[in-house]
Amino acid sequence: MKARIIPIVRAVRTTLPPGRDLVAPPEGELLDLRGRRVRDLRISVTDRCNFRCVYCMPKEIFDDDYAFLPRSKLLSFEEIVRIARIFVEQGVEKIRLTGGEPLLRKHIENLIEQLAKLPVEITLTTNGSLLRKKARALKDAGLHRVTVSLDGIADDVFKRMNDVDYAVGDVLDGIAAAAEVGLAPIKVNCVVKRGANDDQILPLARHFRGSGHILRFIEYMDVGSSNGWRMDEVVPSAEVVARINAEFPLQAVDANYPGEVAERWRYADGGGEIGVISSVTQAFCATCTRIRLSTEGQLYTCLFAQSGHDLRAMLRHGAGDEALRREIAAVWRGRDDRYSEIRTAATVLPGSKVEMSYIGG
Ligand code: SF4
Repeated sequence: MKARIIPIVRAVRTTLPPGRDLVAPPEGELLDLRGRRVRDLRISVTDRCNFRCVYCMPKEIFDDDYAFLPRSKLLSFEEIVRIARIFVEQGVEKIRLTGGEPLLRKHIENLIEQLAKLPVEITLTTNGSLLRKKARALKDAGLHRVTVSLDGIADDVFKRMNDVDYAVGDVLDGIAAAAEVGLAPIKVNCVVKRGANDDQILPLARHFRGSGHILRFIEYMDVGSSNGWRMDEVVPSAEVVARINAEFPLQAVDANYPGEVAERWRYADGGGEIGVISSVTQAFCATCTRIRLSTEGQLYTCLFAQSGHDLRAMLRHGAGDEALRREIAAVWRGRDDRYSEIRTAATVLPGSKVEMSYIGG
């Protein structure tokens, strides 16, 4: 059995920009060392996936011998809801369910039902493969909306990207199912890798223009330690926008809220909205309000972190809510992550960054 990729070392400490001191913010307001609020909790409910996307779970690493987490190691729904409730009390406004592929987690609608009792927006990111089957149940359980990953509109390209021969039509059908039950607005995310699927930028734009769905292009990132990332395979968002603008004139649109990840553009002719997410060429760490809970209860303060904070041990050793609250607040208050601002040739070397499939994108 192939050993799992487990992060071992603590995140790299960074230096602050001139004029910013590493001082604790006033008591009460949960701010990190850069004055950022905690607004978005991303919860990975499984480390498994039925796709093998080349930039996330390359098949040669996540093969049949890969040791996925045994059920006993996963947080139970009750444990997830308890942590989520404490985060909502401390300011979280949005919970995103991720994976791996979250719809592979059995009875996920039961988890959503419990989370829906909290005053929070609940969203989910999926590869869409199970959406036709699950959309109604997800909506009825209280899910607000979905984001669907789709890295190409041409079958051959899409199959090359997901590396399991999964057809575009089934994902499009899943998107249609989500729209039918009102899991909207639907965002469709495409990770663009030069030479692999950048020829899909315009065909995807043509396909989703006027659909009401929001198509977003994500710069290929050096997430985890297994995708062999290279800078020359990144298509900068500015180039993506320029390519689309050449055929369909675009206008810049203001962010919906501070810290919104995507830069928004709309078609000048009213054909709808697109977005670009530019972690590599236009870092947005200064307004990053996201924290991630891994499938087995580790808290990660950055997508590119090397280690997490173990909440599961506290949960399973009878810690009370107050102790959990203090721990969560301490983790956030001690946060100074800004990986995308400090990315260098050295930081991208395969080391021990946590895998995206383990903490969700
Ligand atoms: S690199 Fe880390 S700190 Fe920066 S935006 Fe991404 S998750 Fe936030």
